[in-house]
Order: sequence, then structure tokens, then C-alpha cells
Amino acid sequence: MRTVRAVAQLRSKLEPARREGLTIGLVPTMGALHEGHLSLIRHARSHCDVVVVSLFVNPAQFNERADLERYPRRESDDAALAGTAGADFLFTPAVEEVYPPGFSTSVEVFGVTERLEGASRGREHFRGVATVVTKLLCMAMPDVAFFGQKDAQQVVVIRRLVADLNLPMRIEALPTVREPDGVAMSSRNALLSADERSRAVALPAALAAAIEHAAAGERSAQAILAAAREAMRPCGVEPEYLALVAPDTLEPIDTLDDEALLALAARIGETRLIDNAILQPAGADAVAAAHAPSQPVSGKAMTTCSA
Ligand code: AMP
Repeated sequence: MRTVRAVAQLRSKLEPARREGLTIGLVPTMGALHEGHLSLIRHARSHCDVVVVSLFVNPAQFNERADLERYPRRESDDAALAGTAGADFLFTPAVEEVYPPGFSTSVEVFGVTERLEGASRGREHFRGVATVVTKLLCMAMPDVAFFGQKDAQQVVVIRRLVADLNLPMRIEALPTVREPDGVAMSSRNALLSADERSRAVALPAALAAAIEHAAAGERSAQAILAAAREAMRPCGVEPEYLALVAPDTLEPIDTLDDEALLALAARIGETRLIDNAILQPAGADAVAAAHAPSQPVSGKAMTTCSA
């Protein structure tokens, strides 16, 4: 695996593959790679001829300076992990390569950015995400780019911008990879103390409670959300937001008549975590099976906080 830092170098490395008609896959990351990222890289490896992993901690999407400064950075470990998972190139540009002096353009997606993470973190967050992802897509020009369903709203935003800007690539979203106790893998989990880490099960516990209520026939969003909130209480964790929304528009729904996205953010100590699950109304088992995540949030392995 080769580490590449300049856009021109990336383009010239990819040129022969492009000329031969080989498929190029891109996995954008901010590094501190874990099994969630590696599952995307392995998937890209088995579906593309050339795999590019980008590693760029994008200052433009951090709404809190402290969060940016605390964000874990381990490039040499990441390079080894990405190579083992099947990456051909690790593209890790400096901030000045992505935002050179005079940089004055941003990409802003309206509508789907305004709720959930957008409402909590402010407009700049998704403006930063949309701008950097557009730039990474234009730099690598992959045939397909792979993202995690863990950041469900991000996937909706990226699909929107790719369609709106006629970018000639496919976007694929892959299931959330979880720790044995159900907590979604995240680079931010490394920032949790032992006590905070044990309380982080509040998030998958909320999702599991909602899934259980939906499976038992509950269709009222209010009742489902109340059950999810209740499941977090023993961990002493309050959601920053907890919402049941339409998976494509992210508009809140009152009744679970169709597939819906349950989205959740919570702060545990200084660390902000997000998670989500797709909920199916009871009786939609055939559809649910088709969309089943590789690691369901509800399961025997998941622990809960004791009161
Ligand atoms: P990040 O480095 O956090 O920006 O994440 C890079 C990519 O990995 C994004 O598409 C994320 O959605 C994805 N990702 C992060 N955590 C997970 C996870 N636990 N399972 C699957 N994908 C993930």
C-alpha cells in the first residue's frame, strides 16, 4: 500500500487504472481506524479493482475546537490497518492541500441537513462534511464511494449532493459494526473513561427498546421514543436528541406505518456519541429480513446498565 499526500500524485497513480477501465473504490475516513472502517475497506476490496482510503481530519466539520483537538490521530497504525484490510492507496493530504490559501467555496445541502446533527451541531457541520466529501470525490473520482450507516444522516446528505451535482459515482452505505455489548464502534469511543464506556450501552439499549416495541406492534412514535428514553435512564444518560424520522427526508413521523429511522445523539462526559437503527412496523418481517443489519442492536450479548 502506498501513502499519497498530494492530489496531483493521487490522480497520476489512479490514471493507469482508470485508462484500463478498472473500478476504483473510495473509503473516506478521519482515521483512528477501527473494525467499522475496516469493514468498509474490506467490502471495497472485494467489489473494486483499486481501493483508495482517505484519511483527513476535516477541521471544517468540527463545531467545537476542543473536539477537533481531542480527535485521535494515529497515522502509522492506520496505514498498517488499511493496508491489511486491502487498501491500495492511503490518501492523507495536509490541511493546506485540501484548503489552500484563497480557498473560498463551500457546498451546502439544504433541507436534510437542518434536523438532527444539523440542528445540534449547527449549519457549519454539514457544510464542512458536504464540502470535503465533494472535494474528495472530485480528487479521487471513484466509481463507488463507501460510507457507514452509522452516520445515517451523512449518507442522506451525500446521496443528495451527488444527485444534485450530477457527480458520476455510486454511493454505497454499509451496516454499523458494533462492539460485543452493542455499542457502535467509533473513533470517539477511545476518549471515554472506563465508567463512561460502560454507560455508553445506553445508546444501543435505547435502539433495542424501540425495535422491541415496534416488533410488538407499537406504532405510536411518541410511545416508541418514550420506551427508548426509558431504556437509557439506568445508565444516567440523557439523549441530546432522540427522533423517529422518515429515512429519506428525515422529517419526523408520528406513526410507524413504514420503515423509519430512529436517530440518537448523547453526550457521555465530554464525548458526544451518535447511533441509529432502522425500525420496521410489526408484520413487515419480510422487508426487515432484507434490510437486517449484520449485527442487530438487540441481542443476548448486549448488556444494560444496572440501576
Ligand atoms: P469517520 O472516520 O468517523 O469519519 O468515519 C469514516 C466512515 O466510516 C464513515 O462513512 C462512517 O460512517 C464509517 N463508520 C464509522 N463507524 C462505523 C461503524 N461502527 N460501522 C460502520 N461504519 C462506520
